[in-house]
This record gives sequence, C-alpha cells and structure tokens, in this order.
Amino acid sequence: MLICVIGSGVVGLTCALDLALAGHKVKVITRNYEEGASWVAGGMLAPFSEGLEGDILRLSIESLRLYDEYVSRVEEVSGHSIFYRRNGILRILDSGEVEAYKALADSYRALGFDSQPLEGSSLREAFGLLSEEISSAILFKDEGNVDSQQLMDALIFAMHRLGVEIVLDEVHKIKIEDGRVEEVIGFKNGYGADFYVFSPGAWGSALLGIPVYPLKGQILKVRGLDIDRVLYSPYAYIIPKENYTLIGATSEDVSFDHRRTLGGVRSLGNNAARVVPSIDECEFVEVNVGFRPATPDQLPVFDVGENYVVSAGHFRNGILLAPVSSKVVVDLLERGVRSEYFELFPSRRFQNGNHTDKS
Ligand SMILES: Cc1cc2nc3c(=O)[nH]c(=O)nc-3n(C[C@H](O)[C@H](O)[C@H](O)COP(=O)(O)OP(=O)(O)OC[C@H]3O[C@@H](n4cnc5c(N)ncnc54)[C@H](O)[C@@H]3O)c2cc1C
Repeated sequence: MLICVIGSGVVGLTCALDLALAGHKVKVITRNYEEGASWVAGGMLAPFSEGLEGDILRLSIESLRLYDEYVSRVEEVSGHSIFYRRNGILRILDSGEVEAYKALADSYRALGFDSQPLEGSSLREAFGLLSEEISSAILFKDEGNVDSQQLMDALIFAMHRLGVEIVLDEVHKIKIEDGRVEEVIGFKNGYGADFYVFSPGAWGSALLGIPVYPLKGQILKVRGLDIDRVLYSPYAYIIPKENYTLIGATSEDVSFDHRRTLGGVRSLGNNAARVVPSIDECEFVEVNVGFRPATPDQLPVFDVGENYVVSAGHFRNGILLAPVSSKVVVDLLERGVRSEYFELFPSRRFQNGNHTDKS
C-alpha cells in the first residue's frame, strides 16, 4: 500500500516507521519537521506522576509497556543510540496532594505498578539535594525518561534507512469523495495514496477542523546538576539527560507565540530552585518553546475513516503515547483490528459542545 502520513512529530514518524517496517511504501508530508513539540518535550514517561485515571491511564500503560521494544526498534533501524532510562520518577507532593496521591499509588499498585512512599529523613537520605521544604514524595518505579531530541533524530535517520520520503509541504486541503480521502493538497503539490494518517500536532484544527489548540511550553536546558532520575514536582520537573538537565515547563494559553520570555525563564528557574536549591549554580544553556496539542477535555483524538486515521491531541503525553498511537494504525491495517480507542477518543465527542471540560 502507498501510505501518506501528514505531520512529522513523534506520532507521525513512529507510525511511518512501523508501517514501513510492515512493508508499505510510506511518504511523510510535513510543513516543517523541526517545529514539532516532539523536539523540545521533556521525554518523561509518567502516567502515574501525572495522576492519570480511567481510559487515558489504560492507553498510557499500554504505551509504557511497549516502550522498551519501541526504543530498541528505533535504535536498530536508525543505527543511533537513544538515552532511555526506566529507573522511576520521584513525584514530589505538595501537602494538599499527599492523601490523593497515596490513594492513586494504591490503585496503580493494584494494577501491578510498584511505588515507594518517602517522607522526612528517608526522603532526604535518598535524595540529598532536595529542598528542606519538601517533606513527602512517591517513587513511581516503573516510570521512565527518554531523550526526545535523540528519539526524533533517530526517527529521521530511520526514515532515510527505510526509504521513507519526507516531503516539505503544508497540506491545506483534504479532498474527500464518498467518505474516502482522494487526495491531500499541499501548497506545492497534491498527494494521492491508498491510506492516510493525519498527525498534525497542535496545528490540527486548521487542517482537520477538530478542536486541538496549542498550549505553549517553555523548557530550560542547564548543565552541572548531578541527579540520576526525574524529580517531578507540582512547580517544575527536573529531568536529567546524558549531558544536560531539562527544567520544565511553562503552560501558557497564548496561541502560537514563539517568543522565549524572561518571565518564562525566571519562573522556571525559581520553581526548580524550590525543589533543588543548588540548581542556581547550574550553567544556563538555552530555553526552547514547543506547542502541546491540547483538546478541551485534555484527551487525545483517534478517528478512523474508510481510508484514513486521525491521531492527534496527545497534549502533555505524546512522547509516552507514540508507540500505542502507531500500534492502533498498524493493528487496523495489518490485522484488521479496529482499536477500542477509536470509540473511546473520537473527535465527534466535541460536536455541539458536547464534552467534559476538565481544564
Ligand atoms: C515543553 C513541553 C514538554 C513536554 N514534555 C513531555 C513529556 O515529558 N512527556 C511526554 O510524553 N510528552 C511531553 N510533551 C508533549 C509532547 O511533546 C507532544 O504531545 C507530542 O510531541 C505531540 O507529537 P505530535 O507528533 O502529535 O506533534 P508535533 O511533534 O507537534 O508534530 C506535528 C508536525 O505536524 C506538522 N504539520 C502540522 N500541520 C501540518 C500541515 N497542515 N501540513 C503538513 N505538516 C503539518 C508540523 O510541522 C509538525 O512537524 C511536552 C510538550 C512540550 C511543549
């Protein structure tokens, strides 16, 4: 089959990878393969620290379980190694969160995911750099941390190795006849295929008319902090990578405002110092901006049509959700299995304002 993937973030490229590995001829069309949120994401694989529940928890756990194999697959095909750790995330708790998170940790334990509550002196013995103000945390042992930039680089190399063509163009129109996509029209060309995957990230509403909108995040890169696992607090996340540390992230409802702001940098620095005071001594490297693909209910969109799939709105967890988002498409095309996620997360839930707004 000839398959056209629109959008080259982690969702589109992972799908392109798996479809090419399944033997299809795949073409990726993207306006700009460097503008995606995927390049700047923190790379936390953190369904429990995020406090997810219900169907989105199930989707996230399925993806977390696929992650070891996913990273190996991308490394093998690309020939590039990717920083990836599964040594847990320390979820630091505000006093108001302690009871709720203990209950959540119990519910995750019932699903087979281990965690360890840490308080007072045992917390400080285990994590010496933490501020004295922090008195309670839970170590979610199955969570992980992947370098999103390295993952994206490796995916691009994998495309070249698999002969997946990446075409730079912006799709502005989708030609549909009798429920089938006949062609997608870009500013340079029209593109016909047997099957289409739409994964346009935060730009989804312009292309697909679904209520996906950008939620801007600024994220700092610093050097000189010696920690070996993610510290996830309600104020800031501190995410160690191979040669640097990320401090994330602002959450700003300001449309596609690309500016790196002094206020953003200041709040990230101050918030991180509430967690680890010595972070003030780190070398400042850079600040980056990305746009999370948000939806009104903060849940993703999976739509299926006769010859297309929409995979969008991955919001704060698109790096985590990439493998399962690809599996949904591969299962459909290779095994004829229509995923339950098409029923659980369809865009039709937003019709007539009919949705639960959790924001
Ligand atoms: C600061 C920050 C921190 C984050 N931290 C984490 C984290 O720790 N863990 C996690 O799991 N997630 C995290 N996320 C969320 C994650 O980055 C996103 O959910 C994920 O990257 C979305 O991937 P995507 O492929 O859908 O979109 P994107 O990566 O945004 O890519 C979309 C692509 O589609 C292209 N495109 C759009 N419209 C068109 C069109 N009409 N024609 C052609 N091409 C088009 C764009 O050019 C772009 O290249 C974070 C996000 C931000 C901003």
